[in-house]
Amino acid sequence: MRQARREYINSLADKIRSYFSNNFPVDLKEIVRKLGGNLAITSLNYLNIEDDEYSEAFITADVEKPFEFRIVVDESVHRNRQNFSIAHELGHLFLHLGYFLDDDKWRESKLKLASHYRKGYGPDELEANEFAAAFLMPKDEYLSKIYDGLEIEQIAEYFGVSVEAAINRGRFLNVFARV
Ligand SMILES: [Zn+2]
Repeated sequence: MRQARREYINSLADKIRSYFSNNFPVDLKEIVRKLGGNLAITSLNYLNIEDDEYSEAFITADVEKPFEFRIVVDESVHRNRQNFSIAHELGHLFLHLGYFLDDDKWRESKLKLASHYRKGYGPDELEANEFAAAFLMPKDEYLSKIYDGLEIEQIAEYFGVSVEAAINRGRFLNVFARV
């Protein structure tokens, strides 16, 4: 991912999140609701799919009112991973389905009932992960926790993400050399 794209995604995620909330962990259920979406945390086993088709979360643009889109997350994964998945799907919503930012693309997404799955490491997946990390762990808030002297496990807990996600974000923000 080019640096300019990365910075665009970070600033977009920050703008959208801060419009709704500056409390942490981010209340994703509430934000999905305010965006006009439907969130289901449910068993995905009923789909009876093969392992290589499994995805722990997905988003679908919806034509049926009252919802604009639906996000489904597997209930069997840890809550902190669910949070990241929901934010990841919101990344697809804005970056790849056109919601709010590109009316033509969004109309097309709705007509096609376009979907994105949390799976693999393609370019769209990396962008959605970048969006999720920035959405859940904004730079200034992350830095203030580092300066407060919190351990990485405490930072992960504070933001409601996995330790792995908190470490990745810290690497991107280049903060570990300073502590
Ligand atoms: Zn994805």
